[in-house]
Amino acid sequence: MILHIDMDAFYASVERADNPELTGKCVIIGGSSNRSVVAAASYEARKYGVRSAMPMFMARQKCPEGIVLPVRMNRYREISSLIMNILRRYSPLVEQVSIDEAFMDVTGCERLHGKPEEIARKIKKSVSKTHGLTCSVGVAPTKFLAKIASDMDKPDGLTVIHPDDVDEFIARLPIEKVPGVGARAHEKLAGIGIRNLGEVKLLPPQTIKSLLGKYGSRLSDLACGIDPSPVTPDGAAKSVGSEETLSADTDDKRFLKTFLLKHSEDVGRNLRKKHIKAKTITLKIKHYDFTQITRSLTLEIPTQSSEAIYTAAGKLLDDYPLNKKVRLIGVSLSGLFPEISPVQMSLFKETKNHNENWEKIDKVVDHIAQKYGRPMVRKANLETGKPSSPIRQPKKHKKLRSQTGPQD
Ligand SMILES: [Mg+2]
Repeated sequence: MILHIDMDAFYASVERADNPELTGKCVIIGGSSNRSVVAAASYEARKYGVRSAMPMFMARQKCPEGIVLPVRMNRYREISSLIMNILRRYSPLVEQVSIDEAFMDVTGCERLHGKPEEIARKIKKSVSKTHGLTCSVGVAPTKFLAKIASDMDKPDGLTVIHPDDVDEFIARLPIEKVPGVGARAHEKLAGIGIRNLGEVKLLPPQTIKSLLGKYGSRLSDLACGIDPSPVTPDGAAKSVGSEETLSADTDDKRFLKTFLLKHSEDVGRNLRKKHIKAKTITLKIKHYDFTQITRSLTLEIPTQSSEAIYTAAGKLLDDYPLNKKVRLIGVSLSGLFPEISPVQMSLFKETKNHNENWEKIDKVVDHIAQKYGRPMVRKANLETGKPSSPIRQPKKHKKLRSQTGPQD
């Protein structure tokens, strides 16, 4: 289940929270010159027809008693990041889409925080108590429905679309409410008699595609309640990676694998620390001449096991016809999911048990690393039986001291 959290009249509400005298008044945020436009307006000002992006002179005409305040972007950003921190208390999967808006995947958070609806209530309460601000929350099985839901009962709303009600909701949803349907698409669809999203489902996807181009396919999917876009946590968390510039170039695959093992362990530990799992494993190689390649592999079941990551990365290296020396090698993971997610459930018990065993080993290794402040236990290189970490290399490789850092 996905939550879409949208702050109500965010800039104006922050100003009111900072200065309670503004409560109940028409507040308009934006530059005061007549050439500026409205950046935000309180709901009181909106009653007079003041809207975002409206020229300020027009806003003043519509709402002469409006209090015009300058945009204090730094303050809004500060509050925004504090609110995002509140959201992250309930799920690691928070995707901020703008300064006052975020998606959250709360699948699997029930045992800890309650049903999605309860999580939404707790968030609203906490945001209001901590910052004196209200938000509207939509709860639904997909991102696009959650976004539509959050807009249905503004301000201070909470709208839940239960999985069982999705079909009915879509059947009656006016097409212009669907994110991405602009005025032109609206017109074209109206031209063939489509008013609700549900009606799109009745036509062959090809018809919609020839009418709207690429977006047509997406719209057909949405009409069936399909929206595969996952909640992607912000910034660095969209992928997790670890790489290293070697201090001398090499084309010895066996030696390169010792680096892969070390970096697979690093990224695996990073995933486990963040309580996420990954589906796609990418090998990155930069050759001595600075040409670069990546090779990816997507697993059936998301993993956080260092062993599974290493196996995949090692296979990618095996399959790559290496004909130039390598100066940098690394592993990165994308397609990230929360630790407890329905995607990880598997029908194949054997595979699951195998993973579970490695997960247990990983946890013990993590615990030891945490206790002693550094990785004390590493996997032995399968072929030589020696520790495979480049930290303790065989002597002949001594001059290949590795450096970790952003040199490349
Ligand atoms: Mg908003």
